[in-house]
Amino acid sequence: MRMLETPLPSPGKHVSFENRWKKRITVVGAGISGLVAAYELERLGHSVEVLEGRLELGGRIRTHRFLPGRPGPCVELGAMRVPITHHRTMRYIRELGLTSRVREFRTLFEDDNAYLRTGSGHQRVGDAAPALVSDLRSRLSGGDYDDATVLFGAWLGVRVNAIAPGAFRAGIGDGLDREILALVEGIDVAPYVYGPRRDRIDLHSLFADHPQIQAGCTGRLYRFVEDIVNETSARLICLRGGMDQLVHQLRDRIRGPIRRGQEVVGIEVRDREVALRIRRGFGTITKSCDYVLCTVPFTVLRTMDLVGFDDEKSAIVHDMKYWSATKVALHCRTAFWEKEGITGGASFTGGLIRQTYYPAAEGDPRLGAALLASYTIGDDADVLGRLGRSARLGVVLNELAAVHPQLRKSGMIMGVADQVWGDAPSSLGAAAVRWGKDISTCESERRSAARPQGRLFFAGEHCSTYPAWIEGAIESADNAVRAIAFHEPGPDASAVAEECAAVSEKPA
Ligand SMILES: Cc1cc2nc3c(=O)[nH]c(=O)nc-3n(C[C@H](O)[C@H](O)[C@H](O)COP(=O)(O)OP(=O)(O)OC[C@H]3O[C@@H](n4cnc5c(N)ncnc54)[C@H](O)[C@@H]3O)c2cc1C
Repeated sequence: MRMLETPLPSPGKHVSFENRWKKRITVVGAGISGLVAAYELERLGHSVEVLEGRLELGGRIRTHRFLPGRPGPCVELGAMRVPITHHRTMRYIRELGLTSRVREFRTLFEDDNAYLRTGSGHQRVGDAAPALVSDLRSRLSGGDYDDATVLFGAWLGVRVNAIAPGAFRAGIGDGLDREILALVEGIDVAPYVYGPRRDRIDLHSLFADHPQIQAGCTGRLYRFVEDIVNETSARLICLRGGMDQLVHQLRDRIRGPIRRGQEVVGIEVRDREVALRIRRGFGTITKSCDYVLCTVPFTVLRTMDLVGFDDEKSAIVHDMKYWSATKVALHCRTAFWEKEGITGGASFTGGLIRQTYYPAAEGDPRLGAALLASYTIGDDADVLGRLGRSARLGVVLNELAAVHPQLRKSGMIMGVADQVWGDAPSSLGAAAVRWGKDISTCESERRSAARPQGRLFFAGEHCSTYPAWIEGAIESADNAVRAIAFHEPGPDASAVAEECAAVSEKPA
């Protein structure tokens, strides 16, 4: 399998070489995985067309501009930040000429003046430690833990509370307290304590310096701990002007056609081709393709008419678990929170609305400012999602006005944008979920998801080791490109393809 080690050429350089196996590939879905794959396949000399069901490209990278065509504020209704440790995503940002657009993304707990929900009500982040510690001590009835260990547990616990959805929080609460605290008792936490009152803790450095803590977590907590540490890391970036610039830059570099409004409703795997059924008005047309790369989420794939899938593949398509996410954003007349000393980052407001983000200013401040009033995932997102739009907005305003009464001022809200990902026909969910599963289950699920069927290949965040991240979508695209490029239509073709799809190097 020496071929598998051949690296993809770096983005930006168009490589044309004698390719005995030059192929024609139809990519279904113009999210980041489909666009990256199309771009890389062309660079390897293959010809590509992309079919996208919606009129817009980008899938779950969705930047909303409150005043299109004017330098007004924008907000991310899908992906909003990138950990700098996500090397593939950072590489594309660089190679697609977007380095000058990179700006710091400030997140939860980074601004001391933002709010945080504790057992004794909302507090400023900078003042919240005593309440968090006392909340944890009362939960831990018994257990003679060191003060620093409890401080660690208190700040980890509030992250869990802020980020994990209700059902997951309830399921891991006790295990999290006892399992992780027992692991942390064995190390010296003091070097990670900081702040004028010595009541803050640098969790990111602590986890980085002591990988045995995450490794020692049982399966249920392993992936989860990695994600929450990433999400609240100080090493996050975003793109000034919107994350969808990644999508636009890729679109501009792809030479083959990108056809919009092409909803695929059926896929049939045949001997030496794949047939796609595509909606046309009230009927459908059938298109025969040499190779297909399917990047649509399995939530959508399982609603299609699928023929020629083996039993194991059908099972993963139908059983893969997804979570929802709901975002509600407001276009405010002014960035009123700045007068309260909040210069960015996010509040953990709790209640039904969970997280509130204060995005960095974009455009002309006279045209207003964006506030991501509520970001929820999982069952919390379903609760908000099920409400009608005006009821949802009512709940968000009511809860958020408890910490930001300025929202009630007449004329303060100039516009609203929301996205209920659980209902969006193009994704029927926000992301595949592997929280709560051990490492080997995660890997076997990933392999099954990525495993091709004849000449039908798969990519998308759900086929990766980083589900729910752009990084995962790109990783899966890289793997699928290799698998397609090296697919030889001989007798052992599917074995080669499977092996290629299984390649998944972690970033160094
Ligand atoms: C609310 C939210 C917040 C997120 N935050 C972050 C973040 O901060 N950082 C981060 O890195 N990642 C984040 N993510 C995850 C990230 O957005 C995704 O992992 C990534 O964008 C998925 O890309 P994809 O190509 O796998 O899928 P998609 O983007 O979903 O692309 C699939 C494409 O297929 C199309 N399609 C669907 N059905 C059909 C059909 N029947 N026919 C034709 N086309 C079809 C869709 O319209 C879509 O364009 C977030 C996601 C959500 C929802």
